[in-house]
Amino acid sequence: QEVVNRIAAGEVIQRPSSALKELIENSLDAGAAAINVVIKDGGLKMIQITDNGHGIRPADLPILCERHTTSKLKEFEDLQSISTLGFRGEALASITFVAHLSVVTMTAGQTHGYKATYKDGVLEGEPKACAAVKGTQITVENLFYNVTARRKAFKNVGEEYSRILDVISRFAVHNEGVSFSCKKHGENRADIHTLAASSRSENIRSVYGSSVARELIPIETSDDDPARSRFKMGGCISSANYSAKKTIMVLFINNRLVDCSPLKKACEAVYAAILPKASKPFLYMSITLPPEDVDVNVHPTKREVSFLNQEALIEAIQKAVEQKLLESNT
Ligand code: ADP
Ligand code: MG
Repeated sequence: QEVVNRIAAGEVIQRPSSALKELIENSLDAGAAAINVVIKDGGLKMIQITDNGHGIRPADLPILCERHTTSKLKEFEDLQSISTLGFRGEALASITFVAHLSVVTMTAGQTHGYKATYKDGVLEGEPKACAAVKGTQITVENLFYNVTARRKAFKNVGEEYSRILDVISRFAVHNEGVSFSCKKHGENRADIHTLAASSRSENIRSVYGSSVARELIPIETSDDDPARSRFKMGGCISSANYSAKKTIMVLFINNRLVDCSPLKKACEAVYAAILPKASKPFLYMSITLPPEDVDVNVHPTKREVSFLNQEALIEAIQKAVEQKLLESNT
């Protein structure tokens, strides 16, 4: 059973950045306005995330990391109207099967916090009273310590750290009003640092650089025809003056960080057709769809989404991009 759990966990948690994505989503679900991350060895030695969200009640600590334990889904029907990012109660459980996990947390109105550690889904010992501030700090250590083959597959900690920065950058751009930071353990300087009060374009400047930020044009479009597609899209895209070798597409659908290769390719095609130099775009898009049109119940590792009337939606967005780009190319 333990081996089965470990294999299942390894599918949910494929690498340090996928563990971190789950932890960030939990912090956002907890209403955090500040999320700070510290990383050791590309996340393989340690991922530590500290938030100032609502914290975890002491009574919930014993079952926190049990599989299918979630505080976010009351009834099965909730799945249609779900507004939180998590709902499966799978992430923390999975992490404990392939790493050491400890939690320090305090809810509003408490005089002290609690620290608890977990292994294989189970609380080890008792939660211990400790000094804390409101919010939650989760520390994940020695990822894949018990999965030798997987651990050995990660030779390049630099690459894992880049993936971590990439995930945080995307959340930082999308979540205006939440400050994010990320640094390597033992360093003073943060590699990412955004402020809760800054605008989206300031966030883009601080994580993707001013060459991107100064060439952005706002874009929005929508459709409300059930026979075609129902969606709203808002964001910004690079203008005709921007030049890059690689596309960056930051895509959120119903506030979930996703990838959609057909949409990305469709946008790239517009840039390739209009711009003489084969410049690749920067695209940030936040799309809202009726929840019933998106398959939220896909496997948690799947960044690639599928949704209803995908082709019509892509066509509509492609048109909007084309129009904006032509306007900027005069
Ligand atoms: P899910 O997010 O699908 O509910 P997780 O395994 O990711 O499942 O988390 C389990 C539960 O732990 C959550 O439902 C939530 O109640 C609690 N939790 C996890 N992280 C935090 C956090 N940073 N702040 C407050 N509660 C948290
Ligand atoms: Mg979660």
